[in-house]
Amino acid sequence: MNNHEIKISFDEYDALTDLNDSDNALCIEAKNALKHSHSPYSKFSVGAALRLQSGKIIYGSNQENVAYPSGLCAERVALFHWGANYPNDPIESMAITAHTDAFKLNQPVTPCGSCLQVMAEYEKKQDQKIRILLFCEGGPIWAVQGSESFLPFLFFEDRLAKS
Ligand SMILES: [Zn+2]
Repeated sequence: MNNHEIKISFDEYDALTDLNDSDNALCIEAKNALKHSHSPYSKFSVGAALRLQSGKIIYGSNQENVAYPSGLCAERVALFHWGANYPNDPIESMAITAHTDAFKLNQPVTPCGSCLQVMAEYEKKQDQKIRILLFCEGGPIWAVQGSESFLPFLFFEDRLAKS
């Protein structure tokens, strides 16, 4: 029997003002994306903003539905919009935030496994990792380079992509 250990490392900043201008601006865009969250059931809003190589910003917010499985996370709303409309303009970074009136978030919300898997697929497709910034009001900011920092055992099988 062998035991293996995986270490995850991420950068933590105390305040948005500690980020460089580009990261700071993208976090503000993610906050703006919260406005269009459709979350009448969970009352938990999530906002995402992607910065593309061209400088274009793509927004996503969680979209819920009374038929629960029909909804989608903010991250995938933004990522699929990118995939459908700007696939040749690589994603450089993605900022994600969340808000609820029900309680105070004291640490960033991390993307779910499905969103990380989608991010990983697009990183492979564009052959470039995505810088991920996670933050919430009153909490620290976490930053990593690439989805595998949060999903080290993501699923990928190269032979499935071959024609
Ligand atoms: Zn998700």
